Amino acid sequence: MTAKTLPVLRDELQHCRNCDLYKFATQAVPGEGKKKARIVFVGEQPGDEEDKTGRPFVGPAGRLFDRALDEAGIDRSEAFVTNAVKHFKFEERGKRRIHKKPSAGEIKACRPWLEAELVIIRPQVLVCLGATAAQSVFGPDYRVTRERGKIVEHAWAPRATSTIHPSAILRAPGEQRHLEFERFVNDLRLVRAAS
Ligand code: SF4
Repeated sequence: MTAKTLPVLRDELQHCRNCDLYKFATQAVPGEGKKKARIVFVGEQPGDEEDKTGRPFVGPAGRLFDRALDEAGIDRSEAFVTNAVKHFKFEERGKRRIHKKPSAGEIKACRPWLEAELVIIRPQVLVCLGATAAQSVFGPDYRVTRERGKIVEHAWAPRATSTIHPSAILRAPGEQRHLEFERFVNDLRLVRAAS
């Protein structure tokens, strides 16, 4: 995909048929933020609220992410936030739409959109939030549990790293949730220092 502008990319994204996920979602959710952001965060895929609003990281995990950014001293409006997969994948249970993890094929099919965003933005630091983003950016053998917090060079950014997805913190039980949040904020502080 050749380098374009973010608005052009956003329009074209709505017509993507590279995998089947467009058939069930409300809309594709492009990345959002500053065009020349020094930090780009990549999540997994839109959730229920993101699918309805067309904006990334606005649901429960997004609100927790905002709180963590705030504690780490990162201004979200100065960053760019996007997802590895641009359409919401889910299964219906009654009236609820439950998140389903994208397949390796769907991650691969959507990768050119992520690459196109990054080619335009050219961030200093690229941060993968969770396994799906890390798989898209670093490849299928990458393990966040092993590599979390390590900063490496990448074709899309001079510094690239990974941490957990904020939804993993929401799923942590009791006191563990608080500890996971603190650890996440520490990872974000390292990101800020590297930017
Ligand atoms: S998920 Fe990505 S590859 Fe699949 S249809 Fe949507 S934009 Fe295209």
